[in-house]
Amino acid sequence: MPLSSDFPSTITIDGTELHLRVERKAIKNVNARMGESGMQVSVPLRLDRAEALRIIDELARRLLRRQRAHQINREDDPTELARRIAQRFPKPPEVRSVEFTTVASTCWGSYSPRTQSIRLSAVLRHMPPWVLEAVVAHELAHAIYPNHSPAFWALLRSVYPDTDRARAFLSGVTWLAHAWEHLPPVERSQLAAEREE
Ligand SMILES: [Zn+2]
Repeated sequence: MPLSSDFPSTITIDGTELHLRVERKAIKNVNARMGESGMQVSVPLRLDRAEALRIIDELARRLLRRQRAHQINREDDPTELARRIAQRFPKPPEVRSVEFTTVASTCWGSYSPRTQSIRLSAVLRHMPPWVLEAVVAHELAHAIYPNHSPAFWALLRSVYPDTDRARAFLSGVTWLAHAWEHLPPVERSQLAAEREE
């Protein structure tokens, strides 16, 4: 099957340029594979071009994020950090796995009681270490309290006193992430300037 010339040869996803090879095939769904040289996609014969491009975009984003998550977890295993912080608890919670995730989410971390696993937003790796630690402590505390009850906060503040400072820091990050695009250029460069407290 010849390459479809009605598709672009590159696409840009989250600022990353990818080579794209698209083939039309007698299949039902769009299939995509991420290789060394870019993304190879098979598109059903009769699928509308615009719809195919929309699906390709979505698949590319998902595959890129997954690839990035693998890379991050190879470089940087947060399991040791979680074990170390677990030791601060009166009764250290059990965790089976701790990993960074690149999924776009409103959560900085999550704990699954079913799998006893913690997932942490990969963005946390770029923040001061105590902020990442605070999120790890928060998720570990969920291994004991599956809610945000007063008892949960009391335990968390006793094992990680910087908890409220970290929450304030993360609220600021969330605020900026949403406000950034709407800030006028002068105020943006004002923010980017080095500042003394
Ligand atoms: Zn929570």
